Amino acid sequence: MSVNIQKVAIIGAGQMGAGIAQVFASAKKNVLLIDTNNIALEKALSGIQKSLKKFVEKGITTEKDAQATLARISTNSNFSSITNEQLLIEAIIENTSLKQELFSKLDAASIPEAILASNTSSISITKLAAATNRPAQVIGMHFMNPVPIMKLVEVVCGLQTSEAVVQNIVEVTKSLEKTPVIARRDTPGFIVNRILVPLINEAIFALHEKLATAEDIDTAMKLGANHPMGPLELADFIGLDTVLSILQIFHTELGEDKYRPCPLLVKYVEAGLLGRKTSRGFYSYE
Ligand code: NAD
Repeated sequence: MSVNIQKVAIIGAGQMGAGIAQVFASAKKNVLLIDTNNIALEKALSGIQKSLKKFVEKGITTEKDAQATLARISTNSNFSSITNEQLLIEAIIENTSLKQELFSKLDAASIPEAILASNTSSISITKLAAATNRPAQVIGMHFMNPVPIMKLVEVVCGLQTSEAVVQNIVEVTKSLEKTPVIARRDTPGFIVNRILVPLINEAIFALHEKLATAEDIDTAMKLGANHPMGPLELADFIGLDTVLSILQIFHTELGEDKYRPCPLLVKYVEAGLLGRKTSRGFYSYE
């Protein structure tokens, strides 16, 4: 049975949650954006406003449509604001126990037919589904950063995700004018990050071993491999804490030394230098 998705709740209003809220609202869905941190909610709304303004300037959307998009988004710091949304998408920090706790809460708070999705980059969907009483309706919906620009969504099947829910989410993804790919096996990192994050880690090892400067490593990959962004610049963009969490999950769950996080990455995270979001990572953004 396919669920007609008109109302969506997004939990976690960081860089990903804000972007996901924007694309659903642009596709004329009503969006409830929840974060326990009110400052994050304010930042998310101003970020969405800025992004829509750019789309208006480029002629991609009109001022009127941008205003209507914004009006479809409401924010709240309380889970009791969840009512009859048909799709709930979790986009909080990359932490397994926090996400499991949240999935159990969302299971209790949402209507029985609702689909519960996670934007996790690396955590098992099966593990998140196990925290609910509706494992067939739990799925991964992995958007790329920045969400309003990037066309791909990885649709990730947990062990018990039903085929009807997979097809439902494939259709929803298309309605956002995005292209879905289906990761049939719930393995860490799915498709994109399984390949991309070890590449980023290798670039950090290259910097750690003083093979070249950060600028030269990035230039080499941009001009030598035709990547639009260098791997270190990309790591700063993703957030070094997120990159480290993903590698730790690969290392633990896949059990191979090739996924060992570079000690330099660990040091940067310990120092609180997390990339763009803290104005400093491998580069300075002050
Ligand atoms: P972020 O740090 O920018 O935002 C996380 C937000 O979650 C914060 O605003 C925080 O206040 C909120 N939060 C934390 N615990 C919460 C809770 N219990 N309830 C409600 N809100 C809570 O992180 P992000 O970069 O947006 O990443 C979010 C998720 O998306 C992670 O799972 C990450 O792996 C995934 N992801 C990230 C990227 C990327 O490039 N950053 C890309 C794809 C997927």
